[in-house]
Amino acid sequence: MIELRHISKTYNRSSPNAVVALDDVSLVIPEKSFVVVVGSNGSGKSTLLNILAGTAKPDDGQIMINGKDITHVSDFERSKWIARIFQNPMMGTSPELSVLENFRLASLRMEKKKFRIGTGEAFRKLVKEKITMLGLGLESKLDQPMGTLSGGQRQALTLLMAVMPVHTGKEEAKILLMDEPTAALDPKTSALILELADKIIKEFNLTVIFVTHQLKDALRYGDRILSMEGGKVTRDLAYQSKIKLTIPELYGWFE
Ligand code: ADP
Ligand code: MG
Repeated sequence: MIELRHISKTYNRSSPNAVVALDDVSLVIPEKSFVVVVGSNGSGKSTLLNILAGTAKPDDGQIMINGKDITHVSDFERSKWIARIFQNPMMGTSPELSVLENFRLASLRMEKKKFRIGTGEAFRKLVKEKITMLGLGLESKLDQPMGTLSGGQRQALTLLMAVMPVHTGKEEAKILLMDEPTAALDPKTSALILELADKIIKEFNLTVIFVTHQLKDALRYGDRILSMEGGKVTRDLAYQSKIKLTIPELYGWFE
């Protein structure tokens, strides 16, 4: 379970450019939830994810995971159980390195003693097996430079790369943060990536926080929708798959 207790974050504090990005946000997110976060630009969605991932520090408040206070745990430590993907499919991969080498780098990120894993045939086999699971035929491209793949193919691999250390790690909490992961993709590729994400999420039993502007996707995949405005959570709706909101109803939130 993830728990945010009274989290606040102001950028450029005590300067004329101070921006309140999060204003006393408290949330409880049970394991295996699929939480969708919607809200206009600048409402604090990315800051919320950054604070969970540990790349931004809250000014006030606590973050608890399974009852343990992780507020001051580094982003590096957190990467054992928190995976994230971003809008840009090129982010976090090296175009000149092969697919397999990119996977090696990703897995090394969580290893304190570098080069302990990820050099042998066993690693190649594991990566190949997981890539095969995507069903995109990319397992034949293990030795191709990442830069030769399409944006969609790269985003699919980035997704897998992000969750693999979490999946193979021993920690119980397995969290995937997705910050507008399809915003840079065409509609067809976006749909494909989300289907893949959904498959991976189920296979790896992940708890998900997914930021999107696509209300359709929010309704299709989420089991709970949060809307944010001015650094606050202004709506929080958990719903069963049978009682779905309609898109006009959801648009109504933004009026
Ligand atoms: P969203 O993801 O909903 O668009 P953000 O969390 O990125 O919103 O931003 C919330 C507010 O904080 C915005 O006003 C944004 O300009 C500001 N902000 C975000 N990151 C920084 C930063 N690193 N430095 C200064 N201001 C920032
Ligand atoms: Mg954002």
